[in-house]
Amino acid sequence: MPYAIDETHDPKLTSWVESANDPQSDFPIQNLPWCQVLRDDEDESLQTGVRIGSCVVILDELDEAGMLEGTGWIYGADVEVISELDPADRNVIRKRLSQLLSADCADLRDNSDLRERAVIEFRGDVSEQGDILMLPVFPHDYTDFYASITHATNVGSMFRPDNPLLPNYKHIPIGYHGRASSIVPSGTHIKRPIGQQAPAEDGGSPAFGPCKLLDYEMEMGAIIGRGNELGDHVTIEEAEDHILGLCILNDWSARDLQKWEYVPLGPFLAKNFASTVSPYIVTMEALAPFRCPVAERAEGDPQPLPYMFNEQNQKQGGFDITLEVWIASEKMREQGMEPIRLSKGNFRDMYWTIAQMVTHHTVNGCNLNPGDLLGSGTVSGTTRDSRGSLLELTWDGDPFAEPPVLVPGTQRTPIKLPTGEERKFIADGDEIIMKAYCEREGYRRIGFGECRGIIEPRRANT
Ligand code: CA
Repeated sequence: MPYAIDETHDPKLTSWVESANDPQSDFPIQNLPWCQVLRDDEDESLQTGVRIGSCVVILDELDEAGMLEGTGWIYGADVEVISELDPADRNVIRKRLSQLLSADCADLRDNSDLRERAVIEFRGDVSEQGDILMLPVFPHDYTDFYASITHATNVGSMFRPDNPLLPNYKHIPIGYHGRASSIVPSGTHIKRPIGQQAPAEDGGSPAFGPCKLLDYEMEMGAIIGRGNELGDHVTIEEAEDHILGLCILNDWSARDLQKWEYVPLGPFLAKNFASTVSPYIVTMEALAPFRCPVAERAEGDPQPLPYMFNEQNQKQGGFDITLEVWIASEKMREQGMEPIRLSKGNFRDMYWTIAQMVTHHTVNGCNLNPGDLLGSGTVSGTTRDSRGSLLELTWDGDPFAEPPVLVPGTQRTPIKLPTGEERKFIADGDEIIMKAYCEREGYRRIGFGECRGIIEPRRANT
């Protein structure tokens, strides 16, 4: 297990960046997630930073001033370069940053010239000087899994009430190859997709037009650290060495396009029009105090095959991360109303661990590369308010009720917004906001920031 709890997790540690000491901040000194900033300077340079409180600290500025000497920091490194480092080497950098930013260290705190260059105050995703938070890494490849058995059962129940889970589900982390080109940073506006939809009756012609059943999927994204050679595979014991950290992922989904196209080869245009990620990678190091056992499998469920089974992974392969989805319609924003929460779930409920996904992904010799993105699949719990998509949230069926209520897909109770508006799926102008955070007695709360996106209208001929 390469990720130990150490002095950087000490809950008593505070920072001279005052905003980091607010108990509700996602970014206390114990977190220090990676991000990439497009500077508003002459050459619009892209620089690597860590977030603390309301600030981003630019590492190259610290390096130029000699403050990262002996840490192995590579001047000019972007987050993909950091991904390639050995976890032990990454931790040397983390420890040095933790030291430099701690309340009692004067080196940076009392050097006002350097502090002005290296520590940038942000408001939302933009700094006071106009610097912008970009994607935290630019993935070359993106794979999306389907690792919540509750989500798979809910969705299966809508389309196959008598046989919701297919026989492979409990043996294989199901996934498909997504598209990296349409991964966008939080805050990017998303144009409503357009496309073919299922014929109204069997044998009829498909409809064509803007998506009518637009949805989000609340997921965690895992960023690959070191890759593996083509033809080699990553064992379950090694898998976590190959992960840099986690971010929030919104896998926007066009349900009507999906229903028509997904057989027999899986998702295509219903998914690849946009996927939004949060601006920070919360590192495996920072997440060390929030690990938990794999969710218990139901009695009679098969044990994973030996290549995906390992005691350590069973005991600590899970992550205790709370995930929330919020919505603000255009009308709500116009009337100055705050967003309302749609759901709240937890990542510890997943059937497969990230390590199992990495191992399974490479078992055939497929190579993963530094910075690749793996989506977990929609995170849904068994209660209605923990369902991670509108497809599930407004659906009146419940396969986990006693006796199960398996209503085919069309019977839905809309969500009521404070303006009196109702939603079964996403309307134009809606903003979807995802948040995630970890809390555990005896440790400092850390968070992932936000993953936001507003849907823009689209007419059939545009
Ligand atoms: Ca998905």
